[in-house]
Amino acid sequence: AYVILGTCIDTMDRSCVEVCPVDCIYEGERKLYVQPEECVDCGACEPACPVEAIKYSDDVPEDGREFIADNARFFTET
Ligand code: SF4
Repeated sequence: AYVILGTCIDTMDRSCVEVCPVDCIYEGERKLYVQPEECVDCGACEPACPVEAIKYSDDVPEDGREFIADNARFFTET
């Protein structure tokens, strides 16, 4: 699945929400989150993001891995 990284924090442009065909991008308090079981890996959100916050999970760099964990936490708590 795709993952939204830290540059989304306090940006929340929401362009990704508009292009996602399955509406699997949810709003947290300070950033957006991709629900990994609903994401169909279409990739439409990645170029739509003006701050390049979205990456495919396998392509997330070391310093962004905390957001994979944060994402999992978001969907277990909501
Ligand atoms: Fe939505 Fe496609 Fe992005 Fe997954 S990859 S979050 S389905 S736009």
